[in-house]
Amino acid sequence: MTLVKNKVQVSFEFFPARTEEGGEKLIKTAQQLAGVSPEFFSVTYGAGGSTRDRTKGTVSQIIEATGIPTAPHLSCVGDTRESLRELLSNYKDQGINRIVALRGDLPSGMGRFASGHLQYANELVEFIREETGDHFHIEVAAYPEVHPQAHGMDADLANFKRKVESGATSAITQYFFNADSYFYFVDRCRKEGIDIPIVPGIMPITNYIKLARFSDACGAEMPRWIRKQLESYGDDSASIKAFGEEVITRLCERLIEGGVPALHFYSLNMAGPSLKLVQNLS
Ligand code: FAD
Repeated sequence: MTLVKNKVQVSFEFFPARTEEGGEKLIKTAQQLAGVSPEFFSVTYGAGGSTRDRTKGTVSQIIEATGIPTAPHLSCVGDTRESLRELLSNYKDQGINRIVALRGDLPSGMGRFASGHLQYANELVEFIREETGDHFHIEVAAYPEVHPQAHGMDADLANFKRKVESGATSAITQYFFNADSYFYFVDRCRKEGIDIPIVPGIMPITNYIKLARFSDACGAEMPRWIRKQLESYGDDSASIKAFGEEVITRLCERLIEGGVPALHFYSLNMAGPSLKLVQNLS
């Protein structure tokens, strides 16, 4: 298994493609990334369960094409208990034993979370444990810079603790650009007795406008100096990528020096940016 700086494992996240062509490209991307022997791949679940079948299909295709263990993401707000039960049993039958368990968000226009559905990720973790015992390694989300809907850092930490007490095995964080936010969050967790691995989610920088918009929505703070520098490049995408690679390589170096257990890359279905980062760190 290839390890970054000989000690840290890596994993990569994909989203299900919308078209046949996108699907073929995704499999090629996964095959390229398989070359660095990641610990696992993961495949997201569209808001409100909108990619239920595509997530399932993509997970199977990646496993078949690469042999790398692949974890489906699963969110609870758009799904009934019955459909969650069916999906879990289907994954279990396929030999899948890692899952990323989330509350998820409803797509705009879908209104309020349906009553009777599981409302928070800790309830989903509890449900998975009740239904499948210890079969799955359950990953949950963590937010070093605080989830945008949380009442505050303490409330968000209490929620994270509930997810761990419900049976989460490890966590992957929302991406961040400030290493101190991660280290502070992990310190707070350890003081609260939360001892599961907390793996930083790493977002390669490849496009300024999209990244700034997404960061605002998901509560990831882009420091002013990064915004200013990226803004100054306009549509010079080569400069954006070069600067982004330098910034994220340095961030990963600090995280590795600080003792992170692994790095999880949001690949955006592209092999190049994540591979460059892994190579820089190897
Ligand atoms: P939760 O842990 O349930 O928390 C949601 C909010 O509710 C937080 O503000 C929390 O503090 C609060 N809260 C929790 N319990 C309570 C309570 N009892 N009372 C009051 N407030 C409470 N989204 C997708 O749709 N598909 C994906 O595949 C996907 N993958 C992701 C992968 C990672 C690694 C991460 C970090 C995020 C991912 N997301 C995905 C986004 C995620 O679904 C959103 O961030 C969502 O808003 C919260 O999900 P959660 O599982 O963290 O929710």
